[in-house]
Amino acid sequence: MSAGWLSIVGLGPGDAALVTPEVTAALAEASDVIGYFPYVARVAPREGLTLHGSDNRVELDRARLALELAAKGARVVVVSSGDPGVFAMASAVFEALEAAPKEWRDLDIRVLPGITAMLAASARAGAPLGHDFCAINLSDNLKPWALIEKRLRLAVEADFAMAFYNPRSKARPEGFARVLNTLRDVCEPERLILFARAVSTPEEELRVVPLAEATPEMADMRTMVIVGSSRTRLIARKGNPLLYTPRSVPEGTA
Ligand code: SAH
Repeated sequence: MSAGWLSIVGLGPGDAALVTPEVTAALAEASDVIGYFPYVARVAPREGLTLHGSDNRVELDRARLALELAAKGARVVVVSSGDPGVFAMASAVFEALEAAPKEWRDLDIRVLPGITAMLAASARAGAPLGHDFCAINLSDNLKPWALIEKRLRLAVEADFAMAFYNPRSKARPEGFARVLNTLRDVCEPERLILFARAVSTPEEELRVVPLAEATPEMADMRTMVIVGSSRTRLIARKGNPLLYTPRSVPEGTA
């Protein structure tokens, strides 16, 4: 095999201070950086580095290009926002690898973690994910809507807090309205919901509302939505209240 390698890295939620030193080191050694335009734009250009920005919907092409370049000896970094293993490029690269020539499996391939949006958002608000929780991608690009709906209902039944990625896009404006309607069917109107937009960027905006006051317009593609469990609560204080889920559930609750 060649001396090429492939690292699939997470750039964190936005702030440069939230990029891990390990990822910074991989970027410093790279010959090629591949990813969605806005993420590639977060990498400083330099001599000897080729930046390959592409559109959002071409994950598999991007993944194949990354493997192909690494197989030819390039030092390739594939960038995702947040963590590369959370609704992002790491799985896309492995899907491409399964379909690729067998010898590519011996390439030096690493996944370098990053701070995923739900952790950045929950840290800003307090600790809404302090007890059991789940994460759901609300995009139905790659799965049937009926499955999203089913997972949502079962997660509420199990009383998980829930972190929603990709809540709403211009292409799917109605999906999040349906999610709110489903929640209204199965949760009490006081259930707390965090809308955390563009966390750790200059456009950051945080808002916590009870389900009764939540509207579809509160979310867009840069928003992380965290729905509390039935035990998630607010601590009022000067300035922003703290949103948190206690660590314990009393005996006999199930
Ligand atoms: N791999 C990424 C997630 C990609 S899916 C990660 O681990 O964070 C893209 C979705 O992530 C967006 O629609 C939004 O819901 C969420 N997201 C990404 N960055 C965000 C940020 N800075 N603030 C709030 N939500 C963010």
